[in-house]
This record gives sequence, C-alpha cells and structure tokens, in this order.
Amino acid sequence: MTLPADPAAEPPALVPGELRGYRRFRLAEDGLRPPVHVAAGPWDWPVERARCAVDDAHVPPARGCGCGLYGWYHPTSTGLGTGWGDVTAVVAARGRIVLGDSGFRAAAARVQAVSLPHRARLAPRRRRRWERLLAERYPGVPVYRSRRRMLRRHPPQDLSALGIAVRPSAAARYRWAALLLWLGGVLALCSVAVVPRPVLVGIDSAQWLGVLAGFVLWQAALGWLVSRASPLPGQAPR
Ligand SMILES: [Zn+2]
Repeated sequence: MTLPADPAAEPPALVPGELRGYRRFRLAEDGLRPPVHVAAGPWDWPVERARCAVDDAHVPPARGCGCGLYGWYHPTSTGLGTGWGDVTAVVAARGRIVLGDSGFRAAAARVQAVSLPHRARLAPRRRRRWERLLAERYPGVPVYRSRRRMLRRHPPQDLSALGIAVRPSAAARYRWAALLLWLGGVLALCSVAVVPRPVLVGIDSAQWLGVLAGFVLWQAALGWLVSRASPLPGQAPR
C-alpha cells in the first residue's frame, strides 16, 4: 500500500472559510463538466471533491502535480472565447488550497453561480432547457443570463490579507500587442513589393541574413505574445 504524501512535508497555503474563484465549464446533459478533464465527469452538488487523475496515492491539490479544482481570482482570467467551455461560473473553494499568482487549486469547491452564453448565441428554448437542467442538477445555484450581472453580484474578493493582488488579467493587452505586431510585420512584408527592383538586386547576402533574422524574431515575438494572451487554466497556480 502506498501512503499519501505527507502534507506537512509540502505545506500548501491554508485559507479559512471559502475562497472565491471564476472558471469556465462545458454545459453537458449531466451537468457542468470541466473543459480540460472532460472525462472527470460533471461537478457534484453540493460540493465537488478533487481527484488526481495521475496518481491516486496523494491527496489533491499536491505541489508538483496539476491536480485540484482550479479557479481564477479575477473573472478576466477565465480564458479566450469558448475554447475553455461555454459557461462562466463563480466557484467557492474550501479545504486544502494551493495559491498561485492568478488562481488556485483546491481540494473541494462548490458552484456558486453560473452565467449562460450571451443571448445572441443561444435560442430562447435552449436557454430555458439549460436553465431547467442546471436548476435540477445544482439546486439553489443562481443562473444568470448575463455574465456582467453575475459579476456585479459576485465581485472578486480582496485577497490582500493573503498577500495576493487580485487584478484583471493582462491577457487582453497581450492580445492587442500581438495583433499590432502581426499587422506591422505584414505591412513590412507588403512594402517589399514596392521596393524598386535595382535596390532588391543590390542587397548582399549579409543583408538578406539580417532580413531573415528579423523575420524569425518577428515570428518568435508573435508566438510569445500569443502564448501570454491565452494562458492555460492548468498554469493558474504557480
Ligand atoms: Zn495529483
């Protein structure tokens, strides 16, 4: 028999009461499923308890492992588009919690509120069906038709007492920077077309190498910005 890892050896930060977080879920017939580990099944009501998919010998959340129920401190960190699930939810975490810079991993959590996708993307009949399904699966959990309204009712917590500055995600800024850099690069490439032919012919190999290096640098910078603009949920607790 393997004993669970000694919690005292790697003490995770402990938080009294509940810690508020935001995250995305995929809406399924049987409830709210995590978008990343879909096989883990829907979250339980009233409380979901974390299980480790890698090693059931340790108790989640374990340091050095990605297990635990994650949440972000600020709703702007919940990821890009619908790739991370179609609904945004407020969750309240409890028990052992590993605190990261922008999010946490917890031993247990409950769904506190859910907001369905924007009206334009959901037909009224489907919306009512989802609302009914959520009311059956998660009794007492308010379902909002607008994310903004949900966030007004469930604003981010002040965690300064824990030494954590809760602030909006920088991902949007990285997204804009990536777009501007991409546009700038494309314009530079297009401008080659208007360079007179004699000038192009006159460029020596060293200069071409410089151009090539510039191109590689541009691609690398773009890749870096894009990766910053869409952080993976698993990277939340660091
Ligand atoms: Zn684990």
